[in-house]
Amino acid sequence: MICKELKIPIIIEKSQALLWRLPLNHPIIPLIEKDLKKRKAGYNGEATVYYHLSFLKDKKYKIFYDIRIPLFSQYFQIDFLVLTPFYILIIEVKNISGTVTIDPLIRQLTRTYQGLTEGFPDPVSQVQRQTLLLQKWFSLHKLKYPPIKHLVVFSNPSTILHFTETPPADSPYREIIHAQNIIDKIKDLNETCVKEIINDKEISKVRRTILKDHQENESDIFPTYGISKNDIMTGVRCENCHHIPMTRVRASWFCNKCSASSKHGHMKAIRDYFLLINEHITNKELREFIHVPSRTTAYKMLKDLDMQGEKKAAFYINPDK
Ligand SMILES: [Zn+2]
Repeated sequence: MICKELKIPIIIEKSQALLWRLPLNHPIIPLIEKDLKKRKAGYNGEATVYYHLSFLKDKKYKIFYDIRIPLFSQYFQIDFLVLTPFYILIIEVKNISGTVTIDPLIRQLTRTYQGLTEGFPDPVSQVQRQTLLLQKWFSLHKLKYPPIKHLVVFSNPSTILHFTETPPADSPYREIIHAQNIIDKIKDLNETCVKEIINDKEISKVRRTILKDHQENESDIFPTYGISKNDIMTGVRCENCHHIPMTRVRASWFCNKCSASSKHGHMKAIRDYFLLINEHITNKELREFIHVPSRTTAYKMLKDLDMQGEKKAAFYINPDK
């Protein structure tokens, strides 16, 4: 049972919206593009693991994708958490191409790809830390929980995993696998963890508490790249050639560059505003953002959104909140 579904992370949408709205010659663009590529690859890897996990149809499996839990004024993030009455499984997904060399002795992971070798953080240390934090979180919430197990899953089937030495049978480095082996690993766990530690009622409580405590990463993207809101171009973006701004002509949007027209181009612009600028928008802010002088026109574009406040102080809320 999927308790928290796979969804494109908001940071990917923010980065994409930002890229479209920066002037073509802006010096920060290559860095944002590089980060976005990495994030998309990460997400694709998670989608692969999600696909494999979707075969776990039995209702004893409660599957959570990408949870971000506050603990002691910080957050810890888990790619996948599988909750059962017998055990909890933390899954850390790695999408790393090439040949990955793992040295269990010195806890080191290196990747060689296209002739270049570089180091990566040790994923086993990472899942061990997540395990500790999750245990602390359970104690803090006074929740009963079964043993916490973990897996590091390499999502790209062409990645070659190479161990400098075979880890001993009880080593956590044994829990590094390819995505296609995930169901077999879970079957193994089912055979070793046979004691039911928490009942249905306790499971429901854990499920509710995780979902309640989870917080999306809503951080402002501008400071991350040392830029400001003034760096972006305002106006409606042409879906066909990405030119900004389109011109309002007879209740529609016209692109001066490629001659495409769009009736609802402003909807994407409002979405960009919510992603990049603020979680709510006033009539005046919309008029400035999409270059529309008429208050009535802006009102018609906003009226389907939830509104708070009255008259000129009214503001409209991001529907994805
Ligand atoms: Zn165009």
